[in-house]
Amino acid sequence: MLKTHGFNILFTIIFISLFTSILLFYRAEVGNALLRDHLFPRHDTFNLASCQAWAKEVRDFNVRADTMANKVTVLVYHRVIQEKDIKSNLLHNDGSIVDTVIKKSNFEQQMDWLYTEGYTTLTLKELELFMKGELNVPEKSVVITFDDGFKDNAYEAYPLLKEYGFNAVNFLITGLIEKHDHHYEPGSFQYLSLDDLHNSCDVFEYGSHTYNFHKRTPDGDSFLISNNTKVVQSDIEVSIRHLDGSHYSFAFPYGEYNDTSIQLLRKLGFNMIFTSNYDDVHVGYPTNEIPRKEIFPDDGMKEFKAKLGHRR
Ligand SMILES: [Zn+2]
Repeated sequence: MLKTHGFNILFTIIFISLFTSILLFYRAEVGNALLRDHLFPRHDTFNLASCQAWAKEVRDFNVRADTMANKVTVLVYHRVIQEKDIKSNLLHNDGSIVDTVIKKSNFEQQMDWLYTEGYTTLTLKELELFMKGELNVPEKSVVITFDDGFKDNAYEAYPLLKEYGFNAVNFLITGLIEKHDHHYEPGSFQYLSLDDLHNSCDVFEYGSHTYNFHKRTPDGDSFLISNNTKVVQSDIEVSIRHLDGSHYSFAFPYGEYNDTSIQLLRKLGFNMIFTSNYDDVHVGYPTNEIPRKEIFPDDGMKEFKAKLGHRR
């Protein structure tokens, strides 16, 4: 009896240590497998259509010829985080903040300036019509976009945007959307949940940033460019399904693309395709390569204003 008991304990210890070492050895793979399990179900949708109707309504800005825009700047943000929550995982070795994060206080200052200056935030539909020369928009017009769909967008950026009466665009990696909501932990790598999407649907219009292809190969190539067209197409089609069949707007992961990727997106019906090429948008500009200006953590107000074409 005692002997059997001892054997059981020994067996359990051996089993646990073996299991742990296998787990440690394959840590990356196990991590990926867990991540894959958490992907938003391929055949579900976000059911956003009803709360996104506002984004399709085009306003009549009634602008005089001398105050209408001849260019519009499209801004790109990723994450907005309070300074106290920016920990070592979001800092480089020299203590500077990683490019994809900006302090909430900076974001607030930027939004406050846009508001004080009387800027209008355009919807994508309004931007499209402006680009086609079919809509006159105010000289001080801007489009605010966010890439990747981080949870802080709903908790830090959304309340400020709403306070200023602004709207923005959020390009989602749709597979990373959490079907079930989790408590917000500032500074950690969390993505928007389905509840977050619905709760911030009056400010954000949503576009595709792929389903699960915001990745690079071991050689550093973007999945969108390195995989064959069929594979890329099936990934993007899942993101379209998630977005309730919406194939209107798309932003390239890492801003990387080629002619084949543009042709594929056109074939899938996308009208508004965004790059990260640094430029303003003018009338007549092709809507399949829309440039954007990224805002970085070390941009002061001087740099921010300069990106919007203000010299002082
Ligand atoms: Zn991205």
